[in-house]
Amino acid sequence: MIPYGRQDISESDIAAVEAVLRSDFLTQGPAIPRFEKAMAEYCGVAHAVAVNSATSALHIACRALGLGAGGRLWTSPNTFVASANCARYCGAEVDFVDIDPETLNMSVAALQTKLEQAEREGTLPDIVVPVHFAGQPCDMAAIAELAKRYDFAVIEDASHAVGAQYRQERTGACTYSEITVFSFHPVKIMTTGEGGLLFTRRADLHEQLGLLRSHGITRDTAKMTGPSQGDWYYEQLDLGYNYRITDMQAALGFSQMSRLDEFLARRRDRVARYDEVFRDWPISLQKQPDWAQSAHHLYPIRIDPQRCGKNRAEVFAALRATGIGVNVHYIPVHTQPYYRALGFAAGDFPEAERYYAEAISLPMFSAMTEAQQDFVIESLAEALEVSTHA
Ligand SMILES: *Cc1c(COP(=O)(O)O)cnc(C)c1O
Repeated sequence: MIPYGRQDISESDIAAVEAVLRSDFLTQGPAIPRFEKAMAEYCGVAHAVAVNSATSALHIACRALGLGAGGRLWTSPNTFVASANCARYCGAEVDFVDIDPETLNMSVAALQTKLEQAEREGTLPDIVVPVHFAGQPCDMAAIAELAKRYDFAVIEDASHAVGAQYRQERTGACTYSEITVFSFHPVKIMTTGEGGLLFTRRADLHEQLGLLRSHGITRDTAKMTGPSQGDWYYEQLDLGYNYRITDMQAALGFSQMSRLDEFLARRRDRVARYDEVFRDWPISLQKQPDWAQSAHHLYPIRIDPQRCGKNRAEVFAALRATGIGVNVHYIPVHTQPYYRALGFAAGDFPEAERYYAEAISLPMFSAMTEAQQDFVIESLAEALEVSTHA
């Protein structure tokens, strides 16, 4: 089976994890700040906080920004459920903004229209979470302008976009957002097994995120409400969690990071090969605006049955039957039973639903060989009955 995505682990990654296992600290040790500092430098941002998943990262991002009961968070329906669930953990309401059918990211025009209506109704969001779908940055400058006008905070869900660039800056620079979140799940661009990272420019958010990651506890006497009672003493200042990453994971992340540019280059190379072959095929591809450089986490294609003569399910089944582990990203979040029970219904966000009905993610990972990719292309050609020798 050729998977749609998978990790790329080297001997030096294994050695880095092994070195931690032989050291004094398996958690709360030196590998974590080293990884955070390296990632922050790579992205050109002041602060980074590593945690045990992007889901945890999104949760404490919302908490640090003060989201609570009665609050409102908006995100894209074309995402993994975690982008929305973070608001529910805080007791806040979720709503969605439909996607642009070409970029497959949250539509800035739809966001503006929804904000105008929410302003009239007094239901403006506290937080908007743009998701850089498939690794392609959203138009952050336009979103930041709306954030200023309508006074909401922005959390970038950059789980797919590790190493992406927006207008000459790395995603993670937080020029247009309060907080940016990465995921290091094995199918993503680089991995720590499970893991996530938050970036911010703001020292106050950095401090709050550090507290929330570890029970809300501080050992820093400067931050205590009163004098320290001794070297054993700590204070719990807020209700935090245990969302810590381990040193084994952070060491793996640090080692993976040294190959991040190589991973990205290989993905770009694979994308260029797919793009070249598919140019005259009846499938449509995600539009790549020239102001962004995608990290290419996914390679999504659209199967329009009118143009392809076959529907998505048929093409999906044909590819799976040949041993290709294609996948579908995403089932629109608002159509999940949990969100339907909150009042959402099919038809609420038609572009995301139309996209879902046509979507297939082809295999895309840095270790994919040309031979594997050729097999994917041949199998898709057969499924769609197009000639590869045209
Ligand atoms: C993978 C993913 C997450 C969750 O990441 P974890 O590290 O698995 O918690 C959140 N949002 C998006 C868009 C993702 O793809």
